[in-house]
Amino acid sequence: RKPAGGKRRCLVTGGSGFLGRHLAQQLLDSGAWEVTVFDIRAVEGEDRATYIVGDLRSAEEVAAAVAGMDCVFHVATAAPTAHNAHNRELMWAVNVEGTRNIIDACMAQAVPRLVYTSSASVVFDGHDLHAVDEAQPYAARPLDYYTHTKIEGERLILEANGKGGTLATVALRPSGIFGEFDTLMVPTTVRNAQKGKMKYIIGSGANQMDWTYAGNVAQAHLEAAAALTTPDCPLGGKAYFITNDDPRPF
Ligand code: NAD
Repeated sequence: RKPAGGKRRCLVTGGSGFLGRHLAQQLLDSGAWEVTVFDIRAVEGEDRATYIVGDLRSAEEVAAAVAGMDCVFHVATAAPTAHNAHNRELMWAVNVEGTRNIIDACMAQAVPRLVYTSSASVVFDGHDLHAVDEAQPYAARPLDYYTHTKIEGERLILEANGKGGTLATVALRPSGIFGEFDTLMVPTTVRNAQKGKMKYIIGSGANQMDWTYAGNVAQAHLEAAAALTTPDCPLGGKAYFITNDDPRPF
């Protein structure tokens, strides 16, 4: 599986997106990985990577992209933008069925590692959570349909660990992410401010939210891939919250 130069091959789904671009850059900077990006959008932000324009909803396109990889980083998502958030059909097809396509392709082609980008929102039902750990159950009533599909995607990923004998899987759960290439959080906040929607405070104003720098979330993906050796290694089939440090005022 090692191409010339001793580098390992990896696929980054969603590598034209916010977090995916950070991840592709760090993988390339490490010098250890040959990176292929698989994304529905052709945003070629990194000339050291190979870009495949493809759709997670196509099992054939996914299978072709996954072939020969040592690790798949499944970052892509149908994000909860104002345009997509209420499109349940799209959310399910991309976030759940697309994830199933990734798992099936990894198993069929004996890819040994699959690192999935989940979300801390999978445990959040609207009530305050402070200092919880991974023993926290999935939210019985997730905040929105996007989160419901992230839960179902994560379940599939964790259940796939060890399936077919060789595939090792892990899920990483960042909360809010900030940093370069952000297309959602800061632009939405600025738009809302411009429309005069930032003039009120919900609650006491002391609400806290967990924000993590995108580079740190990407680094967690590299470290997870390094530690994910076999399905029965400590990470195999487990989910981990990813965080900078203490929660910050929201
Ligand atoms: P993003 O929207 O910037 O990137 C997602 C990428 O997936 C995009 O480039 C998009 O084109 C691609 N994509 C969408 N549909 C696709 C399809 N059908 N086939 C192939 N590619 C497709 O989102 P992001 O913020 O970078 O999120 C990355 C991951 O991090 C997601 O799994 C998300 O759930 C998770 N996450 C993000 C945040 C955050 O604050 N941004 C917080 C927690 C978890």
